[in-house]
Amino acid sequence: MTQTGILIDNQWRGSQSGRMIDVLAPATGQVFTRIAAGVDVDVDAAVAAARRAVETGAWGRMNAAERGRLLSRMAIVVADNAEELAQLEALDTGKPIKQARNDIVAAARYFEFYGGGADKVHGHTVPFLNGHFATTERVAHGVTAHIIPWNYPAQMFPRSVGPALAMGNAVVMKPAEDACQTPLRMAELMVENGFPEGAINMVTGYGHEAGAALSSHPDIDFISFIGSNQTGVQIQTAAARNHIGCTLELGGKSAQIVFADADLDAALPSLVNAIVQHAGQTCSAGSRLLVERSAYERIVERVAERFSTVRVGTPEMDLDLGPVVNSKQRDRVIGFCDRAAADGLPLIAEGRMAADLPEGGFFVQPKLYGPVPRTNSLAHDEVFGPVMAVLPFEDEADAIALANGTAYGLVAGIWTRDGSRAVRVGRKMQVGQVFVNCYGAGGGIELPFGGMKKSGHGREKGFEALYEFSAVRTMVIKHD
Ligand code: NAD
Repeated sequence: MTQTGILIDNQWRGSQSGRMIDVLAPATGQVFTRIAAGVDVDVDAAVAAARRAVETGAWGRMNAAERGRLLSRMAIVVADNAEELAQLEALDTGKPIKQARNDIVAAARYFEFYGGGADKVHGHTVPFLNGHFATTERVAHGVTAHIIPWNYPAQMFPRSVGPALAMGNAVVMKPAEDACQTPLRMAELMVENGFPEGAINMVTGYGHEAGAALSSHPDIDFISFIGSNQTGVQIQTAAARNHIGCTLELGGKSAQIVFADADLDAALPSLVNAIVQHAGQTCSAGSRLLVERSAYERIVERVAERFSTVRVGTPEMDLDLGPVVNSKQRDRVIGFCDRAAADGLPLIAEGRMAADLPEGGFFVQPKLYGPVPRTNSLAHDEVFGPVMAVLPFEDEADAIALANGTAYGLVAGIWTRDGSRAVRVGRKMQVGQVFVNCYGAGGGIELPFGGMKKSGHGREKGFEALYEFSAVRTMVIKHD
C-alpha cells in the first residue's frame, strides 16, 4: 500500500496527533489500510512549507514553461502506472475496474491539459491615458488549499491541483478520509518526478479536524472545495473570515429532458448510465428523468427495460456499478428508498445484485421511481446513490420550469431531434453545463465545469480553472 498520508516538503510523516484512521474497502467493508489523522499542527507545517516554496523556494523561481513541463511529465508517469492506480482506485472507492481505468486515463489527461496550459495564460494591454502604458498579467494567489471528496479521488486530485500548480501556486490538499489512496500515490509520483520541496503538500485526516484547520488557516490565499452543501457553507464562512476567494462544487439534482421526438435508441444507454455511473455518487449524475407526457409510456417502458439489466457487483466483477462508499452513504440511499415506498411512489424498475456479493460490502439496489410528484423529496433532494426519479412534463415551457425547479443547478441533458428547440431550451437552463443528445456525467477535462444556485460557484476544469487559480494584476507605466 502507498504512503500513509502527510507529505510536507517532499517528506512523508505521521500526524502530530499520533492517531490513524482505518480505511475500508467498500466492496467488503474490511479495513485494507490506514491513514494519518492529521490535525491543526500538521496543517500549520504544510501551509508553512507551501509558503516557503512560493516565496523563497525552487518552486517559486520556476518559470511557467518549467512548471508545465513537470505537469506534462506527470501525464506520462500516470499513464505508465495506470494499472496500479486503477486497481488502487477500484479497491478504495468500490467502483468497477473499467470505471477506475477510465478515471486514470482522465487523471493523466488533466496533467497533460494543465501542463500544456501553464505558459498559455496571457495578460492584456489596456488603452488608457495618453502618455501611459497599461498592462495586466495573471499572477498566482500564493498558497492554495484543496479539499476533495471520496467519489472520484483519482480525477479530482489533478483536476484541483493541476491548474493551481500550473499558475505557480503551492498547494496543500486535504483529501477525503474515506478514499484517498490514488491522490497519495500520485503525490508520491510527483515528488519522485521532480516537483521541488513544498510545491505539493498533503494532509490526510477528518474534515472537522484537518479540513477545518486548513480552510480556516490564516496563511492560505484561496480555497478549492468539492463536496456537500453543508460543508460548503463552512468553507465559504472560513474563506470570508480570511477575506479570501473560494470555488465551491457542491453537487446537484441534474435533469435529463427527453422530448417525444428524441432518438431513444441513442439516448437509452446514456440516460441509464448517467445515474448508474459510480453507483450514482457523481455530482453531475442525471438523477431526474423528465419525459414529455405525450410519449411518457413509450419512453419509460424502454428506460425500465434497460434499467432492469443493470447489475451490481464488486470491482473485479466489473459490472455496471459497485457498492456505495460506506455504511453512512448506504443508509442514506436506503432511507430515500424507504421514504419513497412510504410515500407510495411507483417502483418502475430495479437493478440486480450479482450472486455471492461479500457480506460486509455497502451494496444498494438501483431503483427507478415514477411518476414522482414534483413536491416529493425524490424530485428535488440529492440522493447520491443509484436512484432515479421520473417526472412527466407537458411542453417545452413546462420542461424548462421543471428542470430549473430545484435549488441546484449543475448540469442538464436535452434529448430531441429539433435543433432549434435544443438551443432554445439549453439557453434557458440555470446550470453550468448543458449537453444536447449526449450526457457528460463527470467527463470533459477541457470543459469548464461548475454550478449555479446551490450547486456552488466558480469554475473548475478547462482553461477557466487557470483563471480561478490566479488573480489579475494591472500595471500602469507613465512614459511621457
Ligand atoms: P463532505 O462535504 O462532508 O466531505 C467532502 C470533503 O470535505 C472531505 O474531504 C471531508 O473530509 C471534508 N470536510 C468535511 N467537513 C469539513 C469541515 N468542517 N471543514 C473542512 N472540510 C471538511 O461530504 P460527505 O459527508 O463525504 O458526503 C455527504 C454528501 O455530500 C453526499 O451524500 C453528497 O450529497 C455530497 N457529496 C457531493 C460531492 C460532489 O462531488 N459534489 C462529493 C461527495 C459528496
